[in-house]
Amino acid sequence: MRDAKRTIEICHLYPDLMNLYGDRGNVIALARRAAWHGLTVQLSHVSVGSPVDFRRYDILFIGGGQDREQRIICRDFQEAKGSSLAEAVEDGVVLLAICGGYQLLGEYYQTSTGERLPGIGVLDVYTEAGDGRMIGNVVVESTLAGEPRTLVGFENHSGRTYLGPGVQPLGRVKVGGGNNGQDGTEGAVYRNVIGTYLHGSLLPKNPWLTDYLIARALERRYGSAELRTLDDDIELLAHNAAIRRAMSRPGV
Ligand code: GLN
Repeated sequence: MRDAKRTIEICHLYPDLMNLYGDRGNVIALARRAAWHGLTVQLSHVSVGSPVDFRRYDILFIGGGQDREQRIICRDFQEAKGSSLAEAVEDGVVLLAICGGYQLLGEYYQTSTGERLPGIGVLDVYTEAGDGRMIGNVVVESTLAGEPRTLVGFENHSGRTYLGPGVQPLGRVKVGGGNNGQDGTEGAVYRNVIGTYLHGSLLPKNPWLTDYLIARALERRYGSAELRTLDDDIELLAHNAAIRRAMSRPGV
């Protein structure tokens, strides 16, 4: 009974501009699993334009995009939404950002032509385009939820992201390039913000991460985070199949 009264508000940022390789599936997975957990789900989206008070939401999502879209978002952050987003992050909002969205949460993203797009600096990371793209399936080991767990996804980026002391990596790369192809890290975590290069969609194939985000959001809004135990047989088949595919990458 108690579950039925709990509500979760999810806001998809820039779905019209930032949506590569099934990123939208992350929002579908969040909404669907939240409903399976007995929560009432309210889903909305915002795009370029007026300022928004992001503190009223529980979970924010922003997907990936190329330089052209990133330039538009960068301007909208500066002119309308960046400070509200930063305030919401300090207030503990849950925020998942993929690839191009992740890059713009950092200090800056420098394109291959040397143009520097300022980010909003909520993540202590910076990104510079490098030679060649890192493309392919990725397997990551993450201790975000305590015990080591596996994440699987798909990356396609030329940006190399470097982490400062203000963030923790989301995990260590077992297959793939991750943040920069050099230091073995993938993604960045600060408070309830997760930035990652994993497209996929990421969340349908990694149900534990979906539940982690929902639990953090419930904790912020209601002070407790119990979730139902769901039957994840099909999700785990997808997870394991994606891992097998990643492991069969040439050179692995
Ligand atoms: N422009 C960025 C890069 O290639 C982001 C690409 C993406 O979001 N897939 O690094």
